[in-house]
Amino acid sequence: MYIVLLGAPGSGKGTQAKLLEREFNIGHLSTGDLFRTILADEGHPLYEDVRVIKEGKFVSDDIVNKVVAEGLTSDRFKSGAILDGYPRTVSQAEVLDEILADLDGAVDVVIDLDVSKDVLFKRLLGRRVCPKCKRVFNVKEGIEVCPDCNIPLIIRDDDNEQVIEARFKEYREKTAPLQDYYISSGAPYIKVKICDVDKTPYEVQEFILDQLKKIDII
Ligand SMILES: [Zn+2]
Repeated sequence: MYIVLLGAPGSGKGTQAKLLEREFNIGHLSTGDLFRTILADEGHPLYEDVRVIKEGKFVSDDIVNKVVAEGLTSDRFKSGAILDGYPRTVSQAEVLDEILADLDGAVDVVIDLDVSKDVLFKRLLGRRVCPKCKRVFNVKEGIEVCPDCNIPLIIRDDDNEQVIEARFKEYREKTAPLQDYYISSGAPYIKVKICDVDKTPYEVQEFILDQLKKIDII
């Protein structure tokens, strides 16, 4: 089973990917993880292609596609994958269709975490992180000191209104064509609307599982 997860930064995509990974026992594919694995192994066939990341540069769409194509053939993904952060563009989505066709698969379902700007703002502005272990908390938990490291939590520099607003706008603009692509592709599409009241990760997961049952995916 191949699941594509869509969602703005702060939508909880990574958390849902982990929960679904456990539920279905399929691999969680994040491009960041794939890059890190390759960069840790100088003998990897794609090492030269992605080395520029070490210099803080971006890799081209083509390279990202190659990395995903290679990654998906690994044992971890032999029963499928939850794709988190890929595809980002329609052209990547088209390539993904080809990659999966080569593996005798297809996108089985798209899960779109549609979190409103208000909810996203509340989540991100309330976010506190441990500067040492990077664990993330929310101000409403009432925790001011990391229980593991015993140092005060901080607000990340990019968790401010302007940055969040810009990231959200960019996400909307870039993702709208991708949403259209998948909706018109006919792949089952689950939209999780989180608008006025925030939902916990478990509430979101329950909703997703319910919807998957309804469309006979599980
Ligand atoms: Zn810590």
